Amino acid sequence: MTLDENWFSETDQDIIGFSLRIREKLHEEQTPFQKIEIYDTVGFGRLMVIDGCVMLTDRDNFIYHEMMAHPVLFAHPAPKNVLIIGGGDCGTLREVLKHDCVHMATQVDIDERVTRLSEQYFPQLCDSNDDPRARLLFDDGIAHVKSAGPGTVDVIIVDSTDPVGPAEGLFSTAFYRDCLRALGRDGLLVQQSESPLLHADSIIGPMHDSLRAAGFLDVMTIHFPQASYPSGWWTATIAAKDGTVGFHREQAAEALAFHSDYYNAAIHRAAGATPEFLRRKLSG
Ligand code: SAM
Repeated sequence: MTLDENWFSETDQDIIGFSLRIREKLHEEQTPFQKIEIYDTVGFGRLMVIDGCVMLTDRDNFIYHEMMAHPVLFAHPAPKNVLIIGGGDCGTLREVLKHDCVHMATQVDIDERVTRLSEQYFPQLCDSNDDPRARLLFDDGIAHVKSAGPGTVDVIIVDSTDPVGPAEGLFSTAFYRDCLRALGRDGLLVQQSESPLLHADSIIGPMHDSLRAAGFLDVMTIHFPQASYPSGWWTATIAAKDGTVGFHREQAAEALAFHSDYYNAAIHRAAGATPEFLRRKLSG
């Protein structure tokens, strides 16, 4: 079937595509950093696109945002100070603030327009922006981490666009070294690491190597479905400053004290299982 102009399509490597049927384009603008588009789709609610890549849809963003926040936060023994790099749509921030033990969550996105448009078109993701524990900054995440005080952050969540344009440096050993310095004892970093089917050689493998080269002692990749991202299968990679990536607050995850739609303790355990092809690549 050939698609007409009533569809938004994102293709990856010229070999695979994902399309959503569009009712109307609600907004388009070029910021100093990137082109942002917002659509109303027929079946997936609203859709945010940055530089031609799907960022989120109303229908399936809950999986991504919960998996960027909860596994890493339940893996840390006592996460108090959380730093989100990117994440301007505020969906990850909302999930982080569901943890009562978090005293402060700082979100640093380079592009204020992403947040302002999210407030307008995805208000449910911005529910927690007025939480007194939330701090929204608009700056380059690379510069922010470089100037962070040593040992001041418990968890860093890198919720960025793909490694092109302003996000490129967020996938580098130099950035991970700065993150390691900013993290305190038991510190953890998590970063979205794309599709195991499409990006194992180009992103997941190099990310493991760079995190270890920067000094992280343990690195593990977790898996989850994400219909609106290329191949429908997505990952996040967690790295531990000391020891191993454990499941320190497993009991709290079992007795979840807040509402979730995807995450639970069983999902957490299952998400860490590594498929054979990826295990061979990561150990090779
Ligand atoms: N869930 C999305 C995905 O995986 O496609 C990511 C969503 S979030 C909107 C990505 C954010 O990263 C964007 O708002 C963008 O402005 C931000 N970003 C890109 N490079 C950045 C940098 N160097 N510092 C801070 N934020 C950055």
